[in-house]
Amino acid sequence: MIKKLVIFGVGLIGGSLALALRQAHYCQQIVGCSRNAEHLQKAVDLGVIDSFTLDPQDAVHDADMVLLAVPMGAMGKLLQQIKPVLPADAILTDAGSTKGSVVAEVEQVFGKDFTRFVPGHPIAGREKSGVEAAIPDLYIKRRVILTPLPHTDADALASVAAMWQVTGAVLEQMPVELHDQVLAATSHLPHVLAFSLVDTLLNLPMREDIFRYAAGGFRDFTRIASSDPVMWRDICLTNKTAIVDMISKLQADLSEFAALMEQQDGDALYERMSRAKQARDSYMAYLENGKPA
Ligand code: NAD
Repeated sequence: MIKKLVIFGVGLIGGSLALALRQAHYCQQIVGCSRNAEHLQKAVDLGVIDSFTLDPQDAVHDADMVLLAVPMGAMGKLLQQIKPVLPADAILTDAGSTKGSVVAEVEQVFGKDFTRFVPGHPIAGREKSGVEAAIPDLYIKRRVILTPLPHTDADALASVAAMWQVTGAVLEQMPVELHDQVLAATSHLPHVLAFSLVDTLLNLPMREDIFRYAAGGFRDFTRIASSDPVMWRDICLTNKTAIVDMISKLQADLSEFAALMEQQDGDALYERMSRAKQARDSYMAYLENGKPA
């Protein structure tokens, strides 16, 4: 049980967590805080949070759990604002999509030996954002990765894990650096690709025809280009080393694909495409049945 949970950023991620915890009666009080009173009032009206304040210091007063669920670029300033008043035994956690940058920011503000911070990342989402998109079952059977540091308090880690378990999520632990590399490959690169592909097409002279005649493949591939640009700008900036590394690898592979086409090397193209199809089919079977095909 949590007495007072404070959520900075009551959007899709923070709002969905709040809804799931409320449904389970896991918190006595959930307080929201961000910059926008209208959004926060909406969150109260929708039954997502109990109350709100625009003052971060006021929000964390008496808190036992504080979650940062704002865009990555907004976390550093919030940490500085709450530092002087965060109760000593309060647990600080976050839901950010990249972990190295927020760990560095917490270390910078609270010191390298701060034991009450538990970095976290729910691997769940939608292209929609804002509190209106929040749903209580967003995290059911979805992974939540916690990246505790060597000095993170065991009780803080257990409390954050217990909170996410209430939502139906499956908990995993991973080192910070590995998290950022894996997510760069599986999530961040595909988003950059989708944004970039749509932008490339937008700059072509026949763009109107392209969008008019685009079929299912285009829709499937570009679905994630409807995601929030603020969130994705911040992810790109805070995980740039790992993402740029993945872009370089992909550029090299794309150049090889182009060369195989130039060389009319159908066998090599077929081999690569078959290998990719097999890997993707196996992944889909794993998602559906819990085991590879
Ligand atoms: P969202 O846009 O739905 O919600 C963000 C909230 O933060 C909004 O309530 C907004 O008012 C508030 N906010 C924005 N800037 C702020 C600032 N400077 N100060 C205070 N509040 C501010 O976004 P979301 O999808 O809920 O994402 C929140 C966090 O969760 C991000 O760090 C994101 O990387 C991470 N995340 C997102 C997803 C996803 O698929 N959407 C998945 C996992 C993790």
